Amino acid sequence: MRFTIATVAIGIAGLTIGVAAPAFAQSAPPVDPVQVLVGRLDFEKYKATVKGLTQFGDRRQGTDRNRAANDWIEAQLKSYGCPTDRIKYDYQPNPPAAAGGARGGGGRGASPTAQGGGRPRGIRTPTGVNTDPMKQPDEKLRALNMQPTTPGPRELVYCTKVGTTHPEEMYIVGAHMDGHGWGEAANDDGSGTALVMELARVFSQPDVQTERTIRFALWNNEETGTQGARAYIAQRQDQQGKENPAGSGKYPEPKWLGMIQHDMMMFDHGMPRADGTISPEQRPEADVNIEFQVSSKMAAESQKLAWVLEVANEKYATDYPASVGSHMTNTDSGPFMDIIPAVSVRENERGVHIGSGWDPQWHQPTDVFATYSDKDFRLGLNAAQTTLGAVGGLTGATLKGVGVRD
Ligand SMILES: [Zn+2]
Repeated sequence: MRFTIATVAIGIAGLTIGVAAPAFAQSAPPVDPVQVLVGRLDFEKYKATVKGLTQFGDRRQGTDRNRAANDWIEAQLKSYGCPTDRIKYDYQPNPPAAAGGARGGGGRGASPTAQGGGRPRGIRTPTGVNTDPMKQPDEKLRALNMQPTTPGPRELVYCTKVGTTHPEEMYIVGAHMDGHGWGEAANDDGSGTALVMELARVFSQPDVQTERTIRFALWNNEETGTQGARAYIAQRQDQQGKENPAGSGKYPEPKWLGMIQHDMMMFDHGMPRADGTISPEQRPEADVNIEFQVSSKMAAESQKLAWVLEVANEKYATDYPASVGSHMTNTDSGPFMDIIPAVSVRENERGVHIGSGWDPQWHQPTDVFATYSDKDFRLGLNAAQTTLGAVGGLTGATLKGVGVRD
């Protein structure tokens, strides 16, 4: 697929230039460079990147395994040719009582409203975070996850593709790299982290240009309340769009045009059955769920961004469609949603689906690489195709020597 499109495109361009370069726009069918980029995503590479992340267990924040995962992520991004940097901050957890309240189960009991809004319907099963090491049957993995978290300094890694004509403006493409629950955090959120890393790989290839900048951010401390994303905003919001040094053409913090977050990308097996079990197979009607938050200050702009992703899915995703919903919640796009257009991309809606027990691996010891089938990984790849297509269009991606835009 990847080879065919690239080869054909190069063939057409080479032939036309050889015969009569000025007539190219009229005589050759236009090549969509974004389609070529989407074709450079690779199913096996996506799976391998998820697998690579799972070598660090659940990557819980404030542990050596979390720090080792950050180092590994940064090394991969550098090897793709995407220049990296880090945000440093300090994390001091709230006293246990307050922390429990902050993430507590909204939408339970008498309330008919899910977290983020929306009405849970149908069969619901209990959800929660596993804190019992003995629930992890794999002794090696249990040992890997044993070191407890300690308060203190934290870091998160990002890398940046600088725009050619508008380096001062950027889209942020994010996922959280931390997890918990005594598994491998393969789906939550190895699946989103791998997606962002794959996009960084494709956009960083030497023949790819974008008019605007793209930042690929791997947030830490999402599971404790999005403290990594909040630290980024606190440190960088006021730096947006400033050229530094003056006259250099460099913009360390381009103006934020939008934030697209990826959190749990692979498992859409449907609602729990009456007996509380879940289908072992990806449901044939699985979809990519793009959510904005209708109660946010930037709701109108965020909705517009959500539909850009939906259109990109129609155009570029090979297997699974996308749906737009209005109840984005509980992920790193939340801290951005009153500031800039912000959406999340997921396997299901976070509030009414995942919050009702549609993903039995969620924060459990079963969230390991071996749990998932190729159909699950393929949903993640389709989300990658969706976001790559959208961001390629939004940032004016072109390929040197291949095709033309329009
Ligand atoms: Zn998550």
